[in-house]
Amino acid sequence: MPQSAPTIGLVSLGCPKALVDSERIITRLRAQGYQLSADYDGADLVIVNTCGFLETARDESLEAIGEALAENGKVVVTGCLGAEAELILDKHPGVLAITGPHQYEAVMQAVHAHLPPKHDPKLDLVPAAGMRLTPRHYAYVKISEGCNNRCSFCIIPALRGDLASRPINAVLKEAENLVTAGVKELLIISQDTSAYGLDLKYAESRWKGRSVPAKFQTLCEELGQMGVWVRLHYVYPYPHVDEVIPLMAEGKILPYLDIPFQHASPSVLKAMRRPANQERLLDRIAQWRLLCPELTLRSSFIVGFPGETEEDYEALLNFVEEAAIDRAGCFKYENVAGAASASLPDHVDEEVKQERWEGFMALQTELAHARGDDMLGRRTTVLIDRFDEESGRFEARTKADAPEIDGVVFVRPAPQMKIGEFVEVVITDAEGHELYGEAAAF
Ligand code: SF4
Repeated sequence: MPQSAPTIGLVSLGCPKALVDSERIITRLRAQGYQLSADYDGADLVIVNTCGFLETARDESLEAIGEALAENGKVVVTGCLGAEAELILDKHPGVLAITGPHQYEAVMQAVHAHLPPKHDPKLDLVPAAGMRLTPRHYAYVKISEGCNNRCSFCIIPALRGDLASRPINAVLKEAENLVTAGVKELLIISQDTSAYGLDLKYAESRWKGRSVPAKFQTLCEELGQMGVWVRLHYVYPYPHVDEVIPLMAEGKILPYLDIPFQHASPSVLKAMRRPANQERLLDRIAQWRLLCPELTLRSSFIVGFPGETEEDYEALLNFVEEAAIDRAGCFKYENVAGAASASLPDHVDEEVKQERWEGFMALQTELAHARGDDMLGRRTTVLIDRFDEESGRFEARTKADAPEIDGVVFVRPAPQMKIGEFVEVVITDAEGHELYGEAAAF
C-alpha cells in the first residue's frame, strides 16, 4: 500500500493580500506533493496565516493559533503577526515555527523540517495558474508588496517594508495564466496600487515582443486587453489616476475604484499623514463621473481618530454624501501597538466613537438604499459566484460589486445559468446593496 501524502491544514486570516500569500503557499505545498485538509483532524500540521493590522485582528490571530494548537498540536505561524515572534511565543510557546509576511521559502522550510514531503512525481504537476483559495472564476493578483507611505495609524510599512513592485511582465504573465485557466475577473491588489512601479523607476521589461514600462497606466492598459473584468483595489487619488478613467469609460477595465480615503477633514488627514493630496477631490470625482458615468467608488473610513472634532466628523459625512461614495466601510479608530497615532493627543471617547460610527452607518444605509432603488428595472451584466441554498438562487455580482466586500444580486435560476459565467439580468427588487434579478429576455 502506498503511504498517504502528508496533509496540511491552512487557516487564512486577514485581507486579500494575505489571501494571496496563502494561495502562494498552497501552490508550493501542492507542487511538492502535500495534500490539503479542510479540518484540523485530517491535517498532520496546520499553517496559520495571521493578520497583525488592528488590535482586534491580532487578538483573532492569537486565538486562531491557540485553537489550531489545541485541535491539532503541530502549528506553523506566518503572515503579518509573524513579524512579532515574541508576542506569539509568549502566548503560545508550543508553535513549531514563526515566519513573517510573504516569507514563502521560510514557511516551506518549516514545513519540511516538521513534515517532510513525500516524493510523488504526479503531484509535482501544478497548473500554470497555481492553486487558488478563491472560486475558479476570480483571482487576486498582487502587483507589489510593502508601502512607501507612513500613515500614522498603520504599521504595515514596518511589517512589510517599502514598496517593492513586481516586474510588469511577471504580473502580466500571472494574469494571462489565470485567464487561460478560466478566470473571468482579476482583482488587482497591493498596499498602494497607483504607486505601482515607482520603486522600479518604471523599468521596462519584455512582454509579447515589446518593451513595456512598469507603470500603473500601462498595467491597466495591458490588463484591459485580456478580455476579462479587471478591478482596481487600494488606489490613492494621485493625479495620474485621472488617466485610467477613460479606460473605464471604454469598458477596458471595470468602472470601479476602491480608494481608501479614510477621512475628509484636512486636519484629520494631516494627523493621519495620508498620501495623495485630497484638495479639490470633489471636483476631480465630478470630472471622473462626467467621463465615466458608470463609475462606482468604494472607500473605507475611520471615525474617532485622535483629535477628530464634531466639525471634522460632519465634514466626513458631507464628503461621503457629496462625493456620492457608492460603497463605504467604516471602522472605529483603534490604537495599534507601534503606530505613531497611539501617542497623538486628544483621543476620542469610546462612546463618542460608537455614536459617530452609528451615524456613519445610518448614512451609508440610506445611501445604499437609494443606490439599490436606482437599480430597479435596470438591465445589467452579472458574474455568478455561487448557488445560495438558503434562497434557492444564484448569488452574483454586478460590475459595481467586488467579492466579499460589496453587494450581491440574487438571481432566479434559469436554464444554462452556471457558476463562473456572465449573465444578463433585470433587477426586480432591491434592499440596499442586496439586489434581486431575473435572467433578461434576449
Ligand atoms: S498607504 Fe498608509 S495605510 Fe496603506 S499600507 Fe501604506 S502606510 Fe499603511
